Amino acid sequence: MIKIVTIIGARPQFIKAAAFSRVLREKYDPANPVKEILVHTGQHFDSNMSKVFFDELRIPEPDYNLGIHGGSHGDMTGKMIIEIEKVLFKETPDIVLVYGDTNSTLAGAISASKLNIPIVHVEAGLRSFNRVMPEEINRVMADHVSDLLFSPTKTASKNLQNEGIEHGRICEVGDIMYDAALYYKKLAKKPDSLKLEIEKFFLLTIHRAENTDNPAKLSAIIEACAKLPYHLICPIHPRTLQKLSALNITVPDNLMLIEPVSYLEMVWLEVSCEAVITDSGGVQKEAFFHHKPCLTLREETEWVELCDLGVNILTRAEDLYTSYIKMSSQSLEHLFEQTLYGYGNTAELILNEILKRYANG
Ligand code: UDP
Repeated sequence: MIKIVTIIGARPQFIKAAAFSRVLREKYDPANPVKEILVHTGQHFDSNMSKVFFDELRIPEPDYNLGIHGGSHGDMTGKMIIEIEKVLFKETPDIVLVYGDTNSTLAGAISASKLNIPIVHVEAGLRSFNRVMPEEINRVMADHVSDLLFSPTKTASKNLQNEGIEHGRICEVGDIMYDAALYYKKLAKKPDSLKLEIEKFFLLTIHRAENTDNPAKLSAIIEACAKLPYHLICPIHPRTLQKLSALNITVPDNLMLIEPVSYLEMVWLEVSCEAVITDSGGVQKEAFFHHKPCLTLREETEWVELCDLGVNILTRAEDLYTSYIKMSSQSLEHLFEQTLYGYGNTAELILNEILKRYANG
């Protein structure tokens, strides 16, 4: 038997863990050669940022909930390292599995590496090459202490090789979020909180520190929304909402802020919108999965293949309208048929590789 301790803590990790956990249960239960112990650090804790994903996506109840959130990066990450180490001492797993690029990812990777427990990193090799981003630090550090790195794209694999990570540690398997997008699309549902019938709308999400923590940028984004031709529906991240109210920024009439939505509701919004406007990593790809053009409010992206293909444009808020016009004047549909992120069987590939490498101790 292989004992895995999986560390999760933030919304995108719940979605990735749901895809992996489903394959684990479907393929290998009841004579299960893999035992997964789920550790929720508590990084995201509001019911609509955490519990709703466990309930809706039927993620097993975490075995440990560390209840750690808020504070500075050092404070949060430090507390997580202390508590995760205690779990690892108690559970003595064969491997530790971490996802993505959050403080929970970093804490899990550091705790395991100091105890010489092999680390498996899912979504390895992504780079923005912007070291100001907290996520960039987290992912670089996690990659370099990981033993098995599951990269989602060719570019991500190349980034790892360029940093000197041996070929044998890298395994390119596609994007686990594509598995989730394919599987859950048929269950998509209109958000309960969306009372109005709106025929045409943009989907907007904003939560990156580079936008929320820069008052001029945040105001410019909100102002730019007023110039767009349709309504925008924005499931608002708690941090963004807090910044908007602290800065007293008035929201234009065509911008509808709603509570963060569940994943199935998010998929409905992605499938139903005209275009996606976002600074999220995951949402950029989901726009592609659901055949929607994407305008990304950032200076760079880790998902460069979408920009190369022409279905995603990096834009400043001031240029949002012209970027939209440029995008909408093109016929993009045929581009969405490209295979950029694997075939929707990433979770299975990950599980098979883990079994191959770790099943016999
Ligand atoms: N998401 C969601 N509800 C929301 C906003 C986002 O379910 O109200 C999902 C989204 O579909 C994607 C994931 O959360 O799967 C992305 O998370 P986020 O944008 O918070 O993080 P990032 O991908 O930028 O790390």
